[in-house]
Formats: sequence, C-alpha cells, structure tokens
Amino acid sequence: MDSRDRQETPRAPLGSLWLTIRHWLVAHTFAPPFLTGRWSHPAVGYLLAAVLQVITVTSLVALIRLFPSFQFQEALLILVVLVVALTWGVGPGLLATLAGATLLTLLFLPPVFSLMIARIADGLDLLVYLAVGLAVSLLASQVQQARRATEGLRRRLDTIIEALPDALSIHDAAGRSVRLNRAAHQLLGHHPPGTQVDVSSTSDGGTGSGEAFPSGDLSSVTRVLAGETVSAVETHLRDAQGHEHILITNAAPFYNAEGQIEGAVLISHDVSALRQAELEAAARARQLEAILEAMTDAVVVHDSEGQVTLLNAAAERIHPLGRTVYASQTLPQRGMQFLPHDEQGQPLPVEQWPLHRILRGEELTGVHAVDVLVRLTDGHERLMNFSGAPIRDAHGRLIGRVILGRDVTEQRRLEESERRVHAETEARRALLQLILDALPISAHLVRGRDARLVLANRAASTLWGATWRQEQPMGEFLRENGIRIFGRDGRPLEPSQLATLRALHQGETVHQHQETIRHPDGTALPVQVNAVALDMRQLNLSPPDEGTRPSQASEPAAIVVHQDVSFLKETEALKDMFIGLFAHELRTPIAVLTGFAQTLLAHSERGNDTQLSAWQREALQGIDQAALQLVKLTEDLLDVTRVQAGRLELSRELTDLVALCRRVVARFQRTTAQHALSLETALEHLVAQVDPERIEQVLGNLLSNAIKYSPKGGPIQVRLREAVEAQAVHLSVRDRGIGIPARQQARIFGRFERADNSRPYGISGTGLGLYLCQALVEQHGGRIWFESVEGEGSTFFIALPLTSEAAPARL
Ligand code: ADP
Repeated sequence: MDSRDRQETPRAPLGSLWLTIRHWLVAHTFAPPFLTGRWSHPAVGYLLAAVLQVITVTSLVALIRLFPSFQFQEALLILVVLVVALTWGVGPGLLATLAGATLLTLLFLPPVFSLMIARIADGLDLLVYLAVGLAVSLLASQVQQARRATEGLRRRLDTIIEALPDALSIHDAAGRSVRLNRAAHQLLGHHPPGTQVDVSSTSDGGTGSGEAFPSGDLSSVTRVLAGETVSAVETHLRDAQGHEHILITNAAPFYNAEGQIEGAVLISHDVSALRQAELEAAARARQLEAILEAMTDAVVVHDSEGQVTLLNAAAERIHPLGRTVYASQTLPQRGMQFLPHDEQGQPLPVEQWPLHRILRGEELTGVHAVDVLVRLTDGHERLMNFSGAPIRDAHGRLIGRVILGRDVTEQRRLEESERRVHAETEARRALLQLILDALPISAHLVRGRDARLVLANRAASTLWGATWRQEQPMGEFLRENGIRIFGRDGRPLEPSQLATLRALHQGETVHQHQETIRHPDGTALPVQVNAVALDMRQLNLSPPDEGTRPSQASEPAAIVVHQDVSFLKETEALKDMFIGLFAHELRTPIAVLTGFAQTLLAHSERGNDTQLSAWQREALQGIDQAALQLVKLTEDLLDVTRVQAGRLELSRELTDLVALCRRVVARFQRTTAQHALSLETALEHLVAQVDPERIEQVLGNLLSNAIKYSPKGGPIQVRLREAVEAQAVHLSVRDRGIGIPARQQARIFGRFERADNSRPYGISGTGLGLYLCQALVEQHGGRIWFESVEGEGSTFFIALPLTSEAAPARL
C-alpha cells in the first residue's frame, strides 16, 4: 500500500493531501490492547463504530417512544464517539461521529427518513454535534495515544534495564533502593531475578536485606543525591556464595520536572574476571621474566621500531658494556660490539648480520638459524648461533622481534670431535672389512644373544650361498634361506649347540667345532668353526647407521671363522678307507697267526708231535698275545672308520647289565694281580635294551684304561644303579690312577687324543678307545663324561636309556 501510494504522491496535490490525511488517520488509529490478531485490525474499529451508533440510535428511538420528553439524543451519540475514540483512535471516532450525524438526520430531524433538514435550528444542532464529535475523537485519541506511548517507553526502558549485563540500582531521593535489575539481583543473590524488591524495607543505600548495594557505595549514593556525578569508583562485594566481586560503579542523579533531584541511578560493572585475568597475566609475565633471566641463551626483544624492549641476563653477560648501554645504542653500534665473522673468520657484511636480517623481517628459526663467529671486544672469540622471529599481536600485526643467541662454541667442538670419532670408526671398520675380505676363509662378527651380524667378509657369502644382512639374527637368516646345520654325527644341531651361539651365550672360545652346512639345494659343506667371544667395547665398532649405544656396547659379541674342510674331509675319508682296507686285510693274516700259534701250543700241550722247549712255548704265547692285540687294534680301527662313515650299527637286545658287568669285571680281574676290581650294585638284575657286545666293549675299554693308567695298582670300583625317574642306567668306573691333566680334559674324547702324563710311565695306547666309547654310548642315546684330578684318579660315568624308546641323548 505504502509503496504504491508513494509512487502516486507527486502526481496531484489532492492525492497528496488524501495521503497525508490517510497517514495521519492510520497513525492515530489503534486497537485496544486486549485485542490481538485479526481482531486488532482497524477495520474492526470502523465496523464497531458504525454498529455501536446504529445500536445507540435504535436504543434512542425506543427510549423516545417510552419517554417522549427525552432531550439528549446527541449526548448519547457523543458518548459512543468518546468510547470508540478512546479504544480505537481517531479514525473509528470520526466514523462514529459521521454515522451518528447521518442516523440523527435520518431518524430524528424532520423530515424523518430523509437526509434533508427542514429547520435551520436543526442544521445548527447537527453542526454543533459534528464539531463536538470531531473534537472528542481527536482529543480522546490523542490522550489515549500519549498514554500508550508512555507505556511503551516504560516497557522498553524496563527491558533495557533488565537486559543490561551490569548491575543497576535506582535510589529514591532518600537514598533507598527502589529498583534492582536482574544482574544486580544475580550479583546479590537475595532476590530471584524478575521479582520486585521490597523497597520499604531498604535502608539508606542498602538492599532489601539491609546490606549496602553495591557494598561501600553509600558515599556514591550520597554524593549523587548531593548533585555529583560519580564515575569509575571501585568497590568490593562478597556475594551470597562468598565470592568476592570487584565492581566499577558509575552513578548519576535524575531530576523531576522542577529540576529537583528525584533519585540516583548506579550502574556497576563486575570486573572481577578481568582483574583475575590481569593478575594471572602479571604472574605469567613475572614467570616468563624469571625464565628469561634464568635462560643460558641470550634473548633480546625489539619493538617494531627496532628499539630494545627486553634484554635478559644472558644477553647482558655476552654484551661487554651491559644492558643500558646496549639498549641506548644504534643498530650498527650494536653489531660492532660483536664484530661478527663467518665461520672461516671473514668479517660479515653489515646486511648479513643476524640482527639486521631479523630486524629486516627474516625468520631465522630451525635450520635457518645462523652460526656466527663473534669476536667480542675483550678479545674472546665465541661461536654463537643466532635465531629470531617476529612477534605478532592477536590480529597478526607485527609488534616486535625476538632474537636468541646461543653460545655453541663447546657444542660445535663436541660435534666436530664426534664427527671425527665417527669418521675414524668408519675408517677402522673399512680397514677391518678390507682385511677380512682378503681372507680366504669366511669370517663374521656377530653380537647379541641372537647373533646379529655386524660384519662379514666376502668369503662368507660364498660359504652360505646367501647374503646375511647386517643386524639380521642368525636364526632368522638360516630360516629365511633354508640353510641347516648338522653336527659331526650327522644330526641337526640345536641352536645352543652352534659354535657361534655357544661363544655368545657362554662367552666360551670354541675351537675347531665341526659343523656341516646344508644348503637348500642339498649340497653340504663340512666346516670347522672357531668362535671367539669378544668385548664389543674394546672393539669399538658400531654398525654404520648408528652410534655406539651403551646398551648395545655391553652386548656379547663374537668373531666366528668358518673354514671349509671339504678337502680335509675327502682326505680323511680316503685315509679312513685306507685304514679300513688295511685293517680288513690284516684280519686274515692275524687270524692265521693266532690260529697257528694256538694250534702249536695246543698240540704241544697234548704231547702230540715234537715237544716244544720252554722258550719255544713262551715265544708262541708271545706271538699269540701280540696277535690278540693286533686283532683289538684292527677291530678298533674298523670301528673308527664305521663311526666316521656313520655306519656304526647296533643290534639291541634285552640284556641283564648286572650279569654283563659281573662277567667283564671278573675277566679283567684275571689279567691283573695289582688291582682290586669290584662291582658295587644293589640290583640283582637290570635289564636294558642295548647291544651287549658294544656295551661290553665300552666297559672293557674303561676298565682296561683304569688298569693301564693306575700303574701302581689300587682299587677299581664299578658301580651300577638304576635312575628310575630318568628311565636310565648309571654306570661308573673309578680308579686311583694318574688322572688326566685339566688342560687336556676337553679334548680327551677326540680321535687319537692322549694325555701326556702317561708318557713318563711308558703306557702305550692309540687314543681311540674313549673316542669309540663316546660314539657307542651316544649311538645308544646315552651320554659319557668323567671327573678326573691329575695324580688322584679318574671316574668315568655312563648314562644309558633303559629302552631304545627313551629319549636319546637327553639323559
Ligand atoms: P689310549 O688309552 O689307547 O691311549 P683312550 O682313548 O682309551 O686311548 O684314552 C685316551 C687318553 O685318555 C689316554 O691316552 C689317557 O691319556 C687318558 N685316559 C683314559 N682313561 C684314563 C684313566 N682312567 N686315567 C688316566 N688317564 C686316562
């Protein structure tokens, strides 16, 4: 409506007048406050005006009929106009006036039922009625509108007061608090927000509870009531919960129409949080200041103009002339104090001084920080690392720059020496690698209980047929490449049996351990392994990619050398073949020799043929003895070749070991008068599944050694017992002979190994007996060991499983 009207406005002065009237009418037409929605539309007011007048006139007609003398027709109509104008404003008031005039003319002024007026007096009456109606409409609506406007204003003011985040209190001329807003109520906590304070109970400057509001502002109220305007008065208030509030109060008086002070308004702003934040910020600033002062790095803060605003103690220390002088100096002067040089000692051009670069806006942080050789005026030269960055405010505006200087002279020296040590280690490592690579045998350096590779030479890759990665554990390497390692007896070796791991775990030095490396393609490589335990710290070698960490430096380490002995093995095999052949070929002539010697002796005994003289018989007995020794020797040699070739076979049967021992002991007792052999056992029988001939051979060997190596005679005790829980037989042979020297004990089970303490006694032997004993016992799944003290005697122990099913070699 408005826009269309506004377009039409300039067209005609008449239209413009109508619009003005219409605006005025609209502006002065309202609806009663109790009507809402469509009922508050002005049209309702207009309709009501017309209807009310019709009802009034109809009532008037009835009234005049009843009381023909009734004179105040217009008065009633004017009353209706007043009511309509008070409730709906000027528009409906005017309509009511016009409707009343029309109805009056039509029904009361002669001629009746015509809009004509016959008498002038009636015409004047009508005019008076119209003038009064018009005046009543205008005045009533004006009054009503003014009242409404005041009411609206009061409501708006109320809303503002309640919405104020600050506490507001209004005091009357006597200083009594007559009004508190919601914030004030919340602050005091005495009255729920929105309820009215009982003004009558308040004391001067106090609240409903009698407490001063805001506390300590009594003087403010008094001052304001005296005509003063108070601003920014700080007061403290403890609220109902006991929290202390700091309030900044502004207050002013308000005056009545006569200009007299009618009361005071106080607005208090709670600045507790702000003060708290200020206190915290101050504490933080003090903390930062303390940190700055305690820092060993020099810190200088410049404002955006390049003026020094902060300089910590460290900065002061490196500055020869102190804080105040430094702050007062110009930029070039400051730089001159330090005579910056680059690391080669060349003076740095001014524009490359870190201070200048940072003040120019460069950010020298992290890797961009620069090392500068600073020659202080006192002659000392220090290497300083300068870094710096801009300082920005919360909006990102540059407000200054901070420069940090760290004395890195010592640090760089250490870094340099570390680099040198590293380079030396590397060089040593490279040299070691070179030497190792030149070796024809494979060599490894391993460390840790899992034998991780540190170094390996070129021959090592040929040995394994695969590349053992650095830091890879040995077990993982073998698994990854399908490599298996077997022992001398052809059985796979447990990890703990490997020479490398023995050296690492027990710290022992393993010499000439025979192992066979079996590659995944089936090829086997016999090797002799020497493993020497090392102290990694003494070696001072670390993998190239890491420094020497203390935990790793204390790890066990070992150098392991594998020597390919396939050639030796072949030679050995040839030798064994030769010995085998030789021993085999010796068997027949020896059998012939013993056969004939024994036949001759037997014939001579029986008196057949010619009688042999005593010396001839002795000679024949000598031949027989020697032949028997030869038989034993050839049998031993053949057994050795069988063991070597892995062809030693057992024919097990249930054997009573008590009977076997008794028999062998008795046999050996017959050969010596010097020694007292005994069998000690609590058992009647002890049946085990063994090869009886081989066990007899073993016991025979041990007994013959006990006799042989006890040249002065003495007791020889054989003990037999059953270890029930282990399902095993324990057999021991003890003598009081010459014993075995400690240094030779480790090798005594080796082939052809003999202790040298037997030499002075002229005791002969081959060094094959114990070797065969061990092979035979192990073939039975048993174990042989001994205890011996040189000069005191030896005890050999054997543990054999009772049955062949019992766990072999686990006794
Ligand atoms: P042999 O007795 O033929 O030399 P063995 O293999 O039986 O060979 O024994 C190897 C070595 O062990 C012997 O040479 C000897 O030095 C030592 N030895 C074996 N048994 C005893 C023992 N009971 N007392 C002292 N030394 C022994």
